[in-house]
Amino acid sequence: MTVGEVAGVKIPPGREYQLPTDPDHLWDGLKDIGLGIRWVAEVKKSDMQIELSGPKWEYKSYTILEIIEEPGKVRNGIVTLIGPDIHEVEPGSSFPSAWDIKVYGQGITQRHREYIERQMAMSLHGVEGYMAFGSFQSPWMRISKSVAGRLTFAKLCQVIHAYVKTVVPQVEAMEFRWIIASPEVGGLALIEPLYKVGIQRLKAQELSVSLEDEDVDIFYGCTICKSLAPNHVCVITPSQIPYCGILSYNGAQVTVELDPEGYIFPMRKGECKDQTMGSYTGVDEAVYERSNHQIKHANVFSAIKYPTTNCGCFEGAAFYIPEVDGLGLAIRRYIGVTPLGVKFSRLAGMISGGSQNHGNKGISVRSIQSKTFLKGDGGWNRIVWMPADMKKELAEYIPEEVYDKIATEQDTVDPVELKKFLKEKKHPIVEKYWKDGEPQPLKVPLPGGDWPRE
Ligand code: SF4
Ligand SMILES: [Zn+2]
Repeated sequence: MTVGEVAGVKIPPGREYQLPTDPDHLWDGLKDIGLGIRWVAEVKKSDMQIELSGPKWEYKSYTILEIIEEPGKVRNGIVTLIGPDIHEVEPGSSFPSAWDIKVYGQGITQRHREYIERQMAMSLHGVEGYMAFGSFQSPWMRISKSVAGRLTFAKLCQVIHAYVKTVVPQVEAMEFRWIIASPEVGGLALIEPLYKVGIQRLKAQELSVSLEDEDVDIFYGCTICKSLAPNHVCVITPSQIPYCGILSYNGAQVTVELDPEGYIFPMRKGECKDQTMGSYTGVDEAVYERSNHQIKHANVFSAIKYPTTNCGCFEGAAFYIPEVDGLGLAIRRYIGVTPLGVKFSRLAGMISGGSQNHGNKGISVRSIQSKTFLKGDGGWNRIVWMPADMKKELAEYIPEEVYDKIATEQDTVDPVELKKFLKEKKHPIVEKYWKDGEPQPLKVPLPGGDWPRE
């Protein structure tokens, strides 16, 4: 993976390292770095030696873990670093990055990718001086000055390599290529085309599990984020990818197979009480049980009425805009103001913590692509606003007839203007939800409260 050409972009040569591959020596040479949960800490901007990706680079970077099913293609324990190492940059540097990880193991198939990704994220979680936010497809990492003399990019790869091989012994070979795109290496101009190709490759790889919610009797639940939000439960169905974006139905299934005592558990679907809202007896029972008896009912397809809870790690959110009785969408990388008059970061703070926030639901980019996306609220007929670049990115999933009728920050972030815009554009909400051309705002109950009986 050293030198190559991708999408017409020449990848500069790098330095190669060989990690220990003997099972008894996987962790050798890591003694000078703290590992474990007590090392989990935030790295502030003023403390960072280096930052990779994140908002400064509009998240145009990636971490891609790829399963190679053919033997002999993955060079075991090889790390190729292209660009400067941690101690070689000016303290406070920030660059985009592209991190490719290839995995081979007999019997390891695409079905296992998400599970191994999860293990990889876990392995890095307690590395001293390392902090990561965001998802694989939009990462944001920082490394503290305090470890700059000790931690290297190869050592970070070694931690993953050792951890993954320990917890998933079926993995036989792992190879890493990490591009730290300093200006000398090529900066964003090098990463952007790689990013485009990488995301395409990932999409092509995604299993075409053509399961529908109706095809299965079992959903899955996840409570990994309980430590941050004690009453929080995520519901994973074939059509609903939870908002952290890490786990799909298939990934949850594999995780339960490999780790039956873990945080992910099968959830009986039970009887369907309301197909449009995504209301099921089994889901209600499981959510009630796992939420410390705080949440009695959750609709899988609604942001407005009895949505599932939000811990805090959502990629994006849907939010109710009372002035137009519609829903807005935003994702983390949007740094402007929303029609609620606050930025996404502020909104995220208000709606996280694990209570049931009627009107607000964390969403993953992949869930927006689903046919059942916010079906209970009217789906795309109810969505009135989203950031321009998000709209562009998701264009193929937005019904053509509403695409131009959804406002962005380039049209307006003011609810009064938004109302005019929707009327002018004849957004379906005007016909379907407003009365005589006027929105009928709902009285949204407080978090944890109940809607009046209809
Ligand atoms: S957001 Fe949900 S699915 Fe994702 S890790 Fe947290 S609890 Fe699990
Ligand atoms: Zn979370």
